[in-house]
Amino acid sequence: MDLRSLNKEELNIVLKEWGLKSFRVNQIYDWFHVKLIRDYNEMTNVSKELRMRLNEEYPLNCIKIDRVQESRLDGTRKYLHRLSDGNYVESVFMRYRHGNSVCISSQVGCKMGCRFCASTLDGFERNLTPAEMLDQIYSITRDTGERISNVVVMGTGEPMDNYDNVVKFYRLLTDENGLNISGRNVTVSTCGIVPGIMKLAEENLTLTLALSLHATTDEKRKELMPIANTYSIRELMEACKTYFEKTGRRVSFEYALVAGVNDTATDAKELIALAREAKAHVNLIPVNPIKERDYRRGSREAIEAFKNSLEKNRINCTIRREMGTDIDGACGQLRRRKLAEG
Ligand code: SAH
Repeated sequence: MDLRSLNKEELNIVLKEWGLKSFRVNQIYDWFHVKLIRDYNEMTNVSKELRMRLNEEYPLNCIKIDRVQESRLDGTRKYLHRLSDGNYVESVFMRYRHGNSVCISSQVGCKMGCRFCASTLDGFERNLTPAEMLDQIYSITRDTGERISNVVVMGTGEPMDNYDNVVKFYRLLTDENGLNISGRNVTVSTCGIVPGIMKLAEENLTLTLALSLHATTDEKRKELMPIANTYSIRELMEACKTYFEKTGRRVSFEYALVAGVNDTATDAKELIALAREAKAHVNLIPVNPIKERDYRRGSREAIEAFKNSLEKNRINCTIRREMGTDIDGACGQLRRRKLAEG
C-alpha cells in the first residue's frame, strides 16, 4: 500500500500505531501532497530512522517517466509512465490560456470496448490506485515546474469501473492541505454506467461529469459502444437529469463526430433534443482516427455546420480544440506502441 492513497485521517490512524504525533503526520502528508516528494529521503525535517522505517514498511510506489513527446505546435506534452509493477499508462499535459491541464488515466487498459478507441484494443489489465492517479499529476508538476489547475479523467480507463479509487483520488486532489485543485476544475468522463452516475450524484462533489454519448439512438450507439447494450439512452438521460438536480452541475455530452456515421442533420436534431432535455453542454470531438479501425472525420466545414445547427437551437456547444496533433494520434497509442516494442 502506498501511503499517498490515504487521506489525513487514515494516515493518522496508521502512523499513530508507531506513536507518531499528529503534527508529524501533518508534516508527512505535506511532503506527499504539497512538496510532492518521490523518495522519503527528501523529508528533511523527519529523522533518518523514521524515513528508513517508512521506506521499509510502506515503500512509495512512484511512477517513472519513461518517455515524453513534446509538440512543436502548442507545447503539449504526452507522457508514458512506468508503474512500479512494470505496467505503462499515459497522460497528457496541455497549456491553455486559463491554465495548465492534465488528462490522466484511471486504469491500465480498459474493458469497455468502444470501437473507435485505442485504449481498449489490448484489453484490461488492472485498476489504478488513488496514489497512481495522483502521481501522474505530481510527476508532471515536478517535470514541468508549472502549476496544474485543471484535471480531466479522460485518459485510458473507465472511471466508473474504478469508482472508489477515483472518488478517493478526487478528494485527495482537491484537499486544501494537498494540491488544492478546485473541484470545479476536475472533469470525470464516463462511457455511461448508470449506477455509477447515480452514486456520484450523492457524493456532494463539484466536479464536472462528462458523458460519452457519441450517438443519439440506441441502435447506433450499440454499434460504437458495447456499454449501450447494458444501459439505454433513456436511462442515461434520466441519470443525467438526476445528476443535475442533485448537484446543480451541468453534465457535458462528449460527441465524437464520425463522418457518415453520426454527423447527419437528423443526428444533430436528435442531439439537440437530448441536450435540451438533460440541460447538457455539448463537446464535439472530431474523431481521432486510429489505424486499427476505419473511422474517418468529416471536413472542417461539416463539423462547423454541425456545431452551428446546435447553436442555432441555443445548445451550448464547443468543438474540442486539438492539441499536440504532431506528436501522436488518439489516446492509448503511446502505450500501445510501447507494448508492441516488447
Ligand atoms: N472511459 C471514459 C473516459 C476515457 S475516454 C469515457 O468513455 O468517457 C475519453 C473520451 O475520449 C471519451 O469521450 C471517448 O469516447 C473519447 N475517445 C476515445 N477514443 C477516441 C477517438 N479515437 N476519437 C475521439 N474521441 C475518442
